[in-house]
Amino acid sequence: MRVLLTGGAGYVGSACLRHLLDAGHEAFAWDNLSEGHRAAIPDERLIVGELHDTAGLASALRETGAEIVMHFAAHAAVGESVADPARYYDNNVVGSLSMLRAMRAAGVGRVIFSSTCSVFGQTEAAALSEQAPIRPMNPYARTKRAVEWMLEDFAAAYGLGYTVLRYFNAAGASPDGAHGEHHEPENHLIPLVLQVALGQRDEICIFGDDYPTPDGTCVRDYVHVDDLADAHRRAAERLVAGRGAAWNLGTGSGASVREVIEACQEVSGRPIPHRVVERRAGDPPRLVADPQGARDALGWQPRYVGIKAIVETAWRWHERHPRGYGSGPRLAQDSGLSPRG
Ligand code: UDP
Repeated sequence: MRVLLTGGAGYVGSACLRHLLDAGHEAFAWDNLSEGHRAAIPDERLIVGELHDTAGLASALRETGAEIVMHFAAHAAVGESVADPARYYDNNVVGSLSMLRAMRAAGVGRVIFSSTCSVFGQTEAAALSEQAPIRPMNPYARTKRAVEWMLEDFAAAYGLGYTVLRYFNAAGASPDGAHGEHHEPENHLIPLVLQVALGQRDEICIFGDDYPTPDGTCVRDYVHVDDLADAHRRAAERLVAGRGAAWNLGTGSGASVREVIEACQEVSGRPIPHRVVERRAGDPPRLVADPQGARDALGWQPRYVGIKAIVETAWRWHERHPRGYGSGPRLAQDSGLSPRG
């Protein structure tokens, strides 16, 4: 397969790009490096460009001979989306429309879209299947849902083939410790807790311990980034023009905030001071996937199950890269078309 990955230098996108290359496929990233990292992928695989540059994107699709797009590029911080929804609708929805237009212009008819379990919003379900009611609770989740609708409509009208993959909590790092999670600012639980283990932060704040869960803290389904990459490859290999599907990607097993902290303490062998603070707005108590749909449709079986196995890989990365990928150059306006370093 020849694949173009928008946001292919980001956390999940770059894991996916490396996975595709390892599996013998051709893959290129289209990324503006505003949040992605140049060092996350081989130089010759990176095309620096903006999602809104429809003509540039169409040229890149033609030049790379892409048959499939994997669309990762998006803003993904819930709190920020509440404070500045315009930024989210512009990048996530208008940017996706630009990408779909570029695909039509270049004659590319298949796409895999990174969506999120947060499209389900608050739920009573013990495990979320694809049939669960969809009730996105914040602007970030609504932008993702809007794109899911756009894909349905493009499939009906233009014969687009698409697969929506709704991730639960992406986590972990490559097992060799070479690549991992690095956001600025960091706001995800596992990297924050490991920064406390490294002495870079004094403590971790637990956002509420009065939820209706066994230990009172929120439960999430942490799924390893390499398992997500594997699901993308499988979905791409099965993707047919004119058909659409959506799958939930999680392990089926949840870990509470306290269990994450305990796992990080155990794996790092370092004390992790923590303190309970107010709940964070918009946090559902429990989000755990029912992965049966993805298992049946894609033959997908996560290899990392259990929070400790995932944290072990994350710790290896954080220990070796205490400053993440470092502060590489940012070339937000560069929309050149040729792969280069
Ligand atoms: N969380 C926390 N303290 C932090 C960051 C996160 O208690 O400093 C909790 C958060 O409330 C949620 C879980 O950890 O229940 C995972 O949060 P994260 O932001 O990593 O992912 P989300 O589930 O929001 O996508």
